[in-house]
Amino acid sequence: MAIAPPRGRTLEELTFDNSFAALGEAFVELRTPEGIPGARLVAFSRAAAELIELRAGEEQRSEFAALTAGNALVHGMNPVAARYGGHQFGVWAGQLGDGRAILLGEVRTSSGAPWELQIKGAGRTAFSRFGDGRAVIRSTVREFLASEAMDALGIPTTRALAMAAGDEPVIRETVERAATVIRIAPSFVRFGSFEIFHYAERHDDVRRLADYVVERFFPVAAAAEGIERYARFFREVVERTASLMAAWQSVGFAHGVMNTDNFSILGLTLDYGPYGFVEAYEPGFICNHTDEAGRYALDRQPTVGWWNCYALAEALSAVLPEAERRAALVAYEPAYWAAYVARMRAKLGLFDERDEDGALVPDVLDLLAARRVDWTNFWRALATDIAPARTLLGDDETANTWLMRYAERVAEDPRGKAARQAAMRAANPKYVLRNWVAQRAIEAVEAGDDSVVQSVYAVLRAPFDEHPEHAAWAQPAPPEYAQLSVSCSS
Ligand code: AMP
Ligand code: MG
Repeated sequence: MAIAPPRGRTLEELTFDNSFAALGEAFVELRTPEGIPGARLVAFSRAAAELIELRAGEEQRSEFAALTAGNALVHGMNPVAARYGGHQFGVWAGQLGDGRAILLGEVRTSSGAPWELQIKGAGRTAFSRFGDGRAVIRSTVREFLASEAMDALGIPTTRALAMAAGDEPVIRETVERAATVIRIAPSFVRFGSFEIFHYAERHDDVRRLADYVVERFFPVAAAAEGIERYARFFREVVERTASLMAAWQSVGFAHGVMNTDNFSILGLTLDYGPYGFVEAYEPGFICNHTDEAGRYALDRQPTVGWWNCYALAEALSAVLPEAERRAALVAYEPAYWAAYVARMRAKLGLFDERDEDGALVPDVLDLLAARRVDWTNFWRALATDIAPARTLLGDDETANTWLMRYAERVAEDPRGKAARQAAMRAANPKYVLRNWVAQRAIEAVEAGDDSVVQSVYAVLRAPFDEHPEHAAWAQPAPPEYAQLSVSCSS
C-alpha cells in the first residue's frame, strides 16, 4: 500500500530567495530581529500557511513559536529592514521606515509565486527614528484578524501567518505588552518606497525599483520596452488602487491612515492600524480619532486613493514623462466606478443591467445615512428578504418607496428568488471585524486566554456563513463596549 507523503514542507524544508535584499544597501539595512524572550504563539492562520506550503502541524512546534516571536530564524533567511518614505496626511515626511518590520526572506513555492515573510514588532532598525521598534498585543491582534478577514471578504490584502505575545512591557498611552505578527505578501513595496529615492534625487534607484517590481509582478508591463513599460506599470497600479478603494467602500472599511507609505504597489490593503468597519452608516465616518480633520473619512477614501497615485506619479517622473503620467491618472476614475458599480450590483443582487438601476444605490445610501442603519446588517438583511430589510430601514413611506422600487426591480430577475438570495448572501457578509469584537479578543489575549482570537479568526474566515453560535459578533457593540475609540498609537 502506497502511503502519500505529507503535504507541504517543514519549516526547515522551506527555501528562501532574498531578491529584495539583493537590491543592495540603498534599499535595505541588514538587521536581525530582536525577539521577545519567552513569548508564546497566540494565533495562527492555516489559510495563510497554505500559501507558503507549510505542512500542517508545523505551527505546534516550539521552533514555529520562536520564529513568530523573533527569537529564531530559519536557515536561508537574510533579514533586512526596507527603506521607504511617505506623505503623511498630505505632507512629505521624508524617511519613515521600516521602523519596526523586518523582511525575513521570500519563500519559493512550487508554483513559483513568491511570498515574502515579514516580522513586525521585533525591535529597532536603522529607520526607527524615535520609535522602539515594538508592537503591542492590541495592534497585533487587530492586524492579524483584519488581514485574514479582508482576504476572506474577497479584498486584496497582505496576510497574517501568526502572532506571538510576551510579557515585555511596551509604553504607549498606557503600559502594554509586546507582541509580534508574521505577515506575508508577494511584496511589501509601497508607494513611499519609490518616493524616498525620488526626493533624494536618486533616479537610478527609482528605475531599479520599478524594474524589480515590473519584472516580478507586472507581466503585461514587462512585455513592453522603454517608456511603454513604465506607462503600463503605472497605469496598472492606478487601476488596482482604484479597484481597492471600491472594494473598501463595499464593506464599509475605513483604513484610517492612508499615507503613501501605507499604500502597496500591488494594490493590497496594507498596514492595519486604526482602521474600522463602519457600523451605524455615516458617509463621513472617521475611524481614527487622531485624524481630527477627517482627511481619511470613509467617503474621502476614493479621492485620497487618487491623490496617492498622483504622489506616486511624481515619484516616477524619472522614468515616465508627464503626458504618460497624466494619461494613467485619468484611468483612475473610470476604474473606480467600474469596480464600485460591480460590487454594489452584486450587493443588491442585480443580474441584468437596466438604466434605472443607477439611482438605487445613492438613494438607499441616503436612507441608511439618515437613519444610521448598521451597514453590514442592512445588506445581509436585504439578502434574506424585504421584511428584515424593512425592520432595519424603517416602516415608513420613504423607506417603503425605496423597498418597493427595489422589490419590483428584482422581481424581474431571470435567476429567480432563491438563486438571487444565495448570490446575495455570498456578496453580503454576515461578519466583519467590529471594533468591539476585536477589543474582546484583545482583552482575552492580554489576560492569557488565546481562545477568543482563534474563534473570531475562524468566524471571519467564513464571513458569509451564519455561525449561529457567534451571532452576537454580528451585532453592534454591547453597552460596555459602546465608547471604544481607536487612535494611531500601535
Ligand atoms: P504608520 O503610520 O503606523 O504607518 O507608521 C509610520 C512609520 O513609523 C512606519 O514606517 C513605521 O515603521 C514607523 N513606526 C511606527 N511605530 C513604530 C515604533 N513603535 N517603532 C519604530 N518605528 C515605528
Ligand atoms: Mg505604516
